[in-house]
Amino acid sequence: MKACATGYFSHPDCRRHDMGEGHPECPERLDAIEDRLLITGVGDALERREAPPAALSDLALAHDRMHLAALQGLEDQLAEQIEAGGPSHIHIDADTSMNRHTWEAARRAAGAAIAATDAVIAGELENAFCAVRPPGHHACRSQAMGFCFINNVAVAARHALERHGLQRVAVVDFDVHHGNGTEDILAGDPRVLMVGIFQQGLYPFSGERPKGTNMANLPVPAYTRGMDVRELIEQEWMPRLEAFRPEMIFVSAGFDAHREDDLGQLALVEQDYAWITTRIRDVARRHAKGRIVSCLEGGYHLGALGRSVEAHLRALADL
Ligand SMILES: [Zn+2]
Repeated sequence: MKACATGYFSHPDCRRHDMGEGHPECPERLDAIEDRLLITGVGDALERREAPPAALSDLALAHDRMHLAALQGLEDQLAEQIEAGGPSHIHIDADTSMNRHTWEAARRAAGAAIAATDAVIAGELENAFCAVRPPGHHACRSQAMGFCFINNVAVAARHALERHGLQRVAVVDFDVHHGNGTEDILAGDPRVLMVGIFQQGLYPFSGERPKGTNMANLPVPAYTRGMDVRELIEQEWMPRLEAFRPEMIFVSAGFDAHREDDLGQLALVEQDYAWITTRIRDVARRHAKGRIVSCLEGGYHLGALGRSVEAHLRALADL
C-alpha cells in the first residue's frame, strides 16, 4: 500500500436512495462518476474502499438525538406504509424525500467520511474522496433539507476533533449553494475554520452574513466566471487558511457551480475545479501532512459532474 495514495470510498447502498422520477439528485450521478473514472483510467490510480455504516453515536457528533430519532421513525413509518401497499416515499420538504434505502444510504455516506478520516489520519492514505449520496451540507443539527439528511462533512470534522484529538480542522465548501447545515453545526467552534463560496440569492438563501467569526463566506453573483472565482479564493480564502494552519481539511465538493449545471448560474469549468483542488492540496501539504477528506455534495449535469470529479481526483492524486 502506497502511503501517498488517494482513497475512494463508496457503497452500493448510496445508489439505492432515490427521491423519485426526474429528481436531479439521482442514483445515475454516481454512475456518471464511475463511468468517467473507468474510461479515463483515473479509477485505477485510486485505492477503493467500501464505506461502513456510521453508528448513531457517530451521527450524534453533529446532530441532536431528536433529529436522528425522527429519521429512524420515518424509516419505520415508511416500512409500514410500503407493507400496507402505500406510497414508496415520505416527503420531508418539497424536494427532499426518503425511500426505503435512504436511511441506510445516509449512514453509509457518513460512514465513508468517517472511515476516510480514520485512514488518512492513520497515514494509510494521503487523502480521500467519498463518492456518496445523499449529500450533506444542507443538513442542519436538527433538520434534514435540500436533498440532505446527515451532514457527512460535519460528522467527520467532529470525529477528527473529538476522537483523534486534532486541534484545528478546516472545511472548504465550493458547492454553488451555501452550506447552511455545516454552518449551523460548526459556527462558533474555534477549532474549525469554514471557507465557502456560493451563488448569491440561491437556495437556501443564507450565508450573506456568517453565523460565526470562524466562517468565511463568499457570496458571488450569478454568471461569475472561473477566473474571478479563483481571484476571490486567492484573496479571501488563502490568507485565512494559511493563518489558521489546519491539521486536516474537509471538502464539501459540490460541482453544481459548473457552467453546464442548471441548478446554479455560475460558470466554473473542469480546470477551475482542478485549480481549486490544487490550492487546497497546497495548504494541506504545508500544514496538514496532506490530509484531505473530500465528500461529494451537488453536481447535477451528469457529463459535467463526471468530468469535474475526474479533475478533482487528478489534482488530489497528483495524476
Ligand atoms: Zn448544491
